[in-house]
Amino acid sequence: MSHSLKGNLTYEILTKAEREGYGILAQTCYDAQSVIALVRAAERNRSPVILQIFPVTLAYGKGPFLRFCLDASVFLIIKTLLPYPWDISDIQTRASAHQASVPIAVHLDHATDPEHIELALSLAEQGIAFDSIMVDASHAETDEENIALAQPHIERAAKCGVLVEVELGRLEGGEAGLRVISDAKLTNPAKAETFMNETGALILSPSIGNLHGLYLNPPNFRQDILKELKGRFQGKIPLCLHGTDGVSDELFRECIKNGISKINVNSAVRDVYVKSLASALQTKPFPDAIEEATEVFAGVCDRFFEVFGSKGKA
Ligand SMILES: [Zn+2]
Repeated sequence: MSHSLKGNLTYEILTKAEREGYGILAQTCYDAQSVIALVRAAERNRSPVILQIFPVTLAYGKGPFLRFCLDASVFLIIKTLLPYPWDISDIQTRASAHQASVPIAVHLDHATDPEHIELALSLAEQGIAFDSIMVDASHAETDEENIALAQPHIERAAKCGVLVEVELGRLEGGEAGLRVISDAKLTNPAKAETFMNETGALILSPSIGNLHGLYLNPPNFRQDILKELKGRFQGKIPLCLHGTDGVSDELFRECIKNGISKINVNSAVRDVYVKSLASALQTKPFPDAIEEATEVFAGVCDRFFEVFGSKGKA
């Protein structure tokens, strides 16, 4: 690992989880309320977590929204530890040292379009940096093309201390504002080591039969591929599971046992949150509706911390 990535929060959270055999919720947030809800849930469960946003949200809120996510992930926690009035220098010291009581990393999911990658990296160069980003070149026709597309971004990210996740193989389906891929390609573990070495990326998202969107048949994940990847990468490259809609608690646990440490969740939390917000707004004052929906979001996260075994690990 390059020197600048030493102490990277995403990497620390994931390698500790892998070592101790639990999974980390990597939850997509679309707005400020979701960010506050996720931080609230992580704090009350004493769980590490990864706060994710999509490029579409970054393009909408740009630097100010990313700064809010980064601040929320330290400030909301630290202020509860300090007597009021809070000493801002103390907060800044702790924040920059990543010493929040509950570690929360901020991650950009599925950055595919060059202008989104450029936005994330130029913000990082201005000091508003994600802990990690996914540079998704999995639409490339060959591994070589995937490497060639991803590698320059990864080198630039590393200079700012930003860790990069890549996908090897290809997942079917599409998420909010993402490119839709129709032909799934499974990850070949034998090629994965070369791929990770040549890209310089440090988180691997494998294609093991997982797909984005709803599963028409019950998910059938290739645990043999996961086990082989674990054998090759344990202690070095954390593995991330995408495409988790409708995945059972039992299957989540099996994937964690076989090497997954980062678990991307999007609509399982978002959909109940949106439904709750829409319905509460019909009958309640705005702040009350917001609070109710925030608690619904946090409540689903509470359950994931239990299922993934990360509760009490922070
Ligand atoms: Zn994904």
